Amino acid sequence: MAILTFETLTEQVAAGTVDTVLVCLVDMQGRLMGKRFHAANFVESAWEETHCCDYLLATDLEMATPEGYAATSWEKGYGDYVMKPDLATLRPLPWLEGTVMVLCDIIDHHTHAPVPHSPRAVLKRQIARLADLGFTAKMATELEFFLFENSLDDIRKSGFRDLTPISGYNEDYHILQTTKEEGVMRPIRNHLHAAGIPVENSKGEAETGQEELNIRYADALACADHHTIAKHAVKEIAWQQGRAASFLAKWHHDKVGSSSHIHQSLWHEDGTGAFYDPGGEHGMSATMRRYCAGLIRYAPEVTVFLAPYINSYKRFAAGTFAPTKTIWSIDNRTAGFRLCGAGTGGVRMECRIGGSDLNPYLALAAQIACGIEGLKQELTLGEPLRGDVYKAGDAPDIPRSLRAATETLRGSTMLREAMGEDVIDHYIRAAEWEQEEFDRVVTDYEIARGFERA
Ligand code: ADP
Repeated sequence: MAILTFETLTEQVAAGTVDTVLVCLVDMQGRLMGKRFHAANFVESAWEETHCCDYLLATDLEMATPEGYAATSWEKGYGDYVMKPDLATLRPLPWLEGTVMVLCDIIDHHTHAPVPHSPRAVLKRQIARLADLGFTAKMATELEFFLFENSLDDIRKSGFRDLTPISGYNEDYHILQTTKEEGVMRPIRNHLHAAGIPVENSKGEAETGQEELNIRYADALACADHHTIAKHAVKEIAWQQGRAASFLAKWHHDKVGSSSHIHQSLWHEDGTGAFYDPGGEHGMSATMRRYCAGLIRYAPEVTVFLAPYINSYKRFAAGTFAPTKTIWSIDNRTAGFRLCGAGTGGVRMECRIGGSDLNPYLALAAQIACGIEGLKQELTLGEPLRGDVYKAGDAPDIPRSLRAATETLRGSTMLREAMGEDVIDHYIRAAEWEQEEFDRVVTDYEIARGFERA
C-alpha cells in the first residue's frame, strides 16, 4: 500500500501543507538526482512525466562525461530521458519542511521502453526472471557509515584533511557513546520511519565514529528504494546538524571500512518461505542450497557491483571483518557469505562482500542473477568453512582490485545473459573510467614517499 496516495497529496497541496515535490531518479552511483517541483505543478501535470538529460546515466561521481558509452555521447547529442514517477514510492520527507518525494523509472524518449542500464530497470529485470521461476526475493541491506564532527562543507574546504570522527573510541554496540550522537541518529530513525522506511534500529559500529542503520527486510525493489532514500537522508540530516556522514568504503587505512551486508531469502508466490526446510541440514531447503551455491560460485563475476570504485578494494583486508574469500560459513563473520537464522523460519544468507559505496539496485540484481543460475544449474553447495576463513588458503579469492574485478565481469557469460550485453558493457565502461581517472592522478602518497627519497 502506498505510504502517501496521490489523492492525499492533492489534498495536502490544496491545504498548503505540502509545497515541494522532489522528483528523483537513481543514478549509476545509487544517488538521487532530479528536480524540485512546486507541488501545484506536480499534481497538475508533472506526476505523469518529466524529463532529464540522458547523461545522468553516464557520468561519474564528479559529473564528468566520459567517452565510450554506447547509450549516449557528445556525438549522440546527450538527449533526454523521460522520468516516469512511480507513484507507489510517493512519501513525505519529514526532515524537509513541506516536502514529499517520488522515485522515477527512466524511459526512452522515443520508444518509451525502460532504459535497460538504469539501476531500477536492472533490478526489475532480475525480479521478473526470479518470478518466472515462481519466487520472490526478500532482502535487507545494512548501512554502515562514519559520522564526523564537522560539516561536509567545512571538510571540503579543509581539503578533506580535517576529518575528526564524532566519537573518540570504538563504539561497537555502545549505548553511552551513541547517546552522545542522538542529535543526529534519533532524527534519522524517526524521520525515516515517518517516511515509510521500516527502520529496525541503529547501533554504534566497530570503529571511532562508525554507525550502522538496519532496515527491515522487504521485496528486493522496496529494499533498494529504502536503502537509497535512507542513505540520502543520513547525509542530509547529518548536514542539517552541522555534521558529515560518509559512505566511502575505506576513509582511512588505519580504520576499518564500512560495509553493506546483504541478507536474502526466497519466498513462494503464496507467501511461504522457500529457504526453510525443518528437515534440512541447518534448516536449509534444497532451493536455498542451490541459490546459495550460485551466489558463491559467481561472486567473483559480480564483485564490480559490490565494490564499484578503486577505494572499495582497500576495505578487503584480513582481520577487519571484511571478507576476502568467496566461501560460506555458519554464523562466522570472516567468510564472504554467512548463514543467519540457521534452523529457523528466518534462515537466510548474508553476503558480506559489498561495501557501503555499492549501488543497491545493481548489487541486489547481481545477487539474484547469481542465485538464479544456481537454481537453474542445480548447483551443489559445498561444505561450510569453520574457523578463521582468512587463513583458508584454498578457498577462492574475491578479486582484489577494481582492475581484476572488471576483467572478471568482462568475461562473465552468465551475467551477460542475465543482465544483457549492453548493460554489462555500460557498467564495464564505468569501472574502466574509474581506473583510468585514478591512473592519471598523482596522489599525496606518492609525493610524500618519493619526492625526496626516490
Ligand atoms: P545480524 O545483526 O546478526 O546481522 P539481524 O537480526 O540484525 O542480524 O538481521 C539483519 C537483517 O536481516 C535485518 O535487516 C533483517 O530485517 C534482515 N532479515 C531478517 N530475516 C530475513 C529474511 N528472512 N530474509 C532477508 N532478510 C532478513
